Amino acid sequence: MSSSATAGFSLEGIDDVQGLPSDEGEGSSMSWENTSHIHNLMHMGKKASHSSRFDQAIEFYSRADKIRPGDPTILSNRCATYLKLSEFLKDSPPSFSEKRPLYGLDPTTHAGLALKDAEKVMSLQSNSITSHILKSNALILLEKYEQAWDVICSGLQIDPQSKHLLNLEKLIANTCIRRSHVKPQRTDDYDCTVCLKLLREPVTTPCGHSFCRSCLFQSMDRGNRCPLCRTVLLISPRTCSISVTLNNIIQKNFPEEFEERKSEHDSLINLGVDLLPLFVKDVILPCQKFQLNIFEPRDRLMVRRIMEGSRRMGMVVIDSSTGSIADYACEVEIIDCEPLPDGRFSLEVESRRRCRIIQNWDQDGYRIAEVEWVQDISPPEGSTERNDLLEMTNKAAAFARQLMRKAQYGSQAGRIRLEEVFKTEGLMPPTEDPERFSFWLATLTNRSPSERLDLLRIRDTKERLRRGLLYIKAEGQGCRLQ
Ligand SMILES: [Zn+2]
Ligand SMILES: [Zn+2]
Repeated sequence: MSSSATAGFSLEGIDDVQGLPSDEGEGSSMSWENTSHIHNLMHMGKKASHSSRFDQAIEFYSRADKIRPGDPTILSNRCATYLKLSEFLKDSPPSFSEKRPLYGLDPTTHAGLALKDAEKVMSLQSNSITSHILKSNALILLEKYEQAWDVICSGLQIDPQSKHLLNLEKLIANTCIRRSHVKPQRTDDYDCTVCLKLLREPVTTPCGHSFCRSCLFQSMDRGNRCPLCRTVLLISPRTCSISVTLNNIIQKNFPEEFEERKSEHDSLINLGVDLLPLFVKDVILPCQKFQLNIFEPRDRLMVRRIMEGSRRMGMVVIDSSTGSIADYACEVEIIDCEPLPDGRFSLEVESRRRCRIIQNWDQDGYRIAEVEWVQDISPPEGSTERNDLLEMTNKAAAFARQLMRKAQYGSQAGRIRLEEVFKTEGLMPPTEDPERFSFWLATLTNRSPSERLDLLRIRDTKERLRRGLLYIKAEGQGCRLQ
């Protein structure tokens, strides 16, 4: 089998290696018997190499090298044979070695030995083209293309016309272009069997199946079984980690699709300022702090996504008069999120701003709304109207503080009630912000959902303050802090 006829990379220029060592220089001090012995070994080596008995050829050259160490011709011939053997092994089908056991080493090791010989030759004859050809062939077999390129370039400085070096140069250029363009095989082995897309943040279950993290937990919201084999899974989003190796393989091999999947997910997480996922439950006023339990599968999915992003959602009620989602909602921020082992969440939230819902639509079972952030129509700074409002707010604040002192020292003040009073007081906004204060004041009494919805709709701070005070006075002993 001729090495130059094999598929893939063909060795270039190694058949030009001189067959016999010259008798000049050190050789002249050698006995006639030794010289003739070396010639014999070289002849036998050449013959063995020609009939693809590379391991025998290497043996002959090694014996010659023992008799005359450091001879560039002997080393060049052994180097060329290592190269041929390495390439021969690379191109042989696995079954070949069963019929004919080979030298025992792998192609890379042989290429490495060839490189060593080539380097020795180069140090002996730094200006020889042959040493450059041998070394670059070895480096190419070792897939060290950049180093091979450097060797070829320095060889071409010695002989710019070297046909073999020019061919090797072309070969490297083609190989590198091909490599940067050929994509590794994209099989459905890398797909998630739930969403049928490239795995994103892959999680491997104890039963050995891999899914996108979000797909697995979305599926587990409906039962704790593997979506593929139905094995009962005792894992939770908190204890389950992403398979780093698999993730790296995917990112490295399919970078474009990986990025696509990432941005697809990011668009679900980071909705933008005017979009808000909705938790359809109740009417909430700004300046409240409370606990929420999330157990519906669709809400769990929403909470997982919110927790990866802004940690904010809108709370809204179904308007009993229309049967659809009310026109006003309040944004709440998740302060604390405790995932429970069964997949539910225990949340602590604080309500922030109110908004008007322009439109809303379904997203994987939960609602998303396009919203407009709403504020009261505020009288201009320094105007009499503004000063009146600030005065009214200060009076209301004094009244509220009085109410809370009474609640603290009142005879009915139990520990739980006291905690509630302190929590409410802690949420009291400064009186320089009458709008927020007016909402807080309204939270001191228990209002019906429709009354709260009205408070959200009002854009007159004074009116809201008035209502808040009225509610407190009307409820008298019924005020939730008394
Ligand atoms: Zn998936
Ligand atoms: Zn499974």
